[in-house]
Amino acid sequence: MSDCLFCKMAHGEIKPDVVYEDDTVLGFRDINPQAPVHVLLIPKRHISTLNDLEAEDGALIGKLYLAAKRVAAQEGVAEGGYRTLFNCNGDGGQEVFHLHLHLLGGRQMRWPPG
Ligand code: AMP
Ligand code: ZN
Repeated sequence: MSDCLFCKMAHGEIKPDVVYEDDTVLGFRDINPQAPVHVLLIPKRHISTLNDLEAEDGALIGKLYLAAKRVAAQEGVAEGGYRTLFNCNGDGGQEVFHLHLHLLGGRQMRWPPG
């Protein structure tokens, strides 16, 4: 989508602080970090929300989690622990409508989330 911020990052029109990249996934630091480590993993292909996933996107979601696992190790939070989450639509707190997996670590996470 031409007016999507994360598509522009995926296509190199805007350069985020990239920590991971492969053929289908881009990982970059969140501009407003909520933890010492806060990385967003996105599919390079535009998908708006979790509600828009199709059955054939299962492997892609697996790739996002495998990328999160690698970044967690790279960032030194794998053993201490971390949280991964997708926000979906208004009640879920989604603000950017290009699917992204949050990876948060480097501090104690609270439960339940706010
Ligand atoms: P969400 O609320 O789940 O849609 O999360 C969107 C995330 O994108 C927020 O944590 C923002 O801080 C982050 N964000 C927005 N603009 C940028 C940007 N230009 N570079 C990196 N992260 C961004
Ligand atoms: Zn997009």
